[in-house]
Amino acid sequence: MIHILKALLDLLFPKICNGCGGVLAAQEQVICTTCRHQVPLARFHTTRANTLQKIFYGRTAIQEATALLVFQKKGITQSLLHNLKYKKQEDISPFLGHWLGAELSEIAAYKSIDAVIGVPLHKDKQKVRGYNQVTGFGKAIAQALGVVYLEDVLVKISKTDSQVFKTRGKRIQDNQEFTLINKVKIANKHILLVDDIVTTGATLENCATQLQQAENIKISIATMAISL
Ligand SMILES: [Zn+2]
Repeated sequence: MIHILKALLDLLFPKICNGCGGVLAAQEQVICTTCRHQVPLARFHTTRANTLQKIFYGRTAIQEATALLVFQKKGITQSLLHNLKYKKQEDISPFLGHWLGAELSEIAAYKSIDAVIGVPLHKDKQKVRGYNQVTGFGKAIAQALGVVYLEDVLVKISKTDSQVFKTRGKRIQDNQEFTLINKVKIANKHILLVDDIVTTGATLENCATQLQQAENIKISIATMAISL
């Protein structure tokens, strides 16, 4: 009976690929097999040429840095991130987290991670969206690494309406965006800081600077995507 009901529901409300908009097959989730093979990958944890790590040179101390996907205008990654942020497709977040988490759990440099922290959203923005789009990603990575996901360490204290048109210089000046509310919890730990997309690195730098107020802390970074 349940099977028939499910088949009927799938027929009435087919699940759509978040990459190309095509109908997903029964065994596919979030994106179709074709999109999964076509989406451009960054995977800096597998290569020595780490473009993401270089973004932070001379700005803040980062141990490891990786991104799963490469963001291209009108590409599959853009479609995934757009649906995650604006189309209530929250499942995309843990989907990408399980994917990256499984890979990171095989890499020695990521085995010393003690906890995962997501870049927080301002509480007003989270209320409107209904969720923080990086939470599912961070929790799935934490699960793969066998560590905790911490939600009560960093908060966003000022609302920035749109950062898209701001220059990097201006964003760095605005360094009161994030604040550390639990220094003790992260002392002596290796923290993996996670976000959806990295472009200039200003947001992650801002968060890392706050986290570095804790004693003897190491910070690594993992994002869903990088815009090159
Ligand atoms: Zn597709």
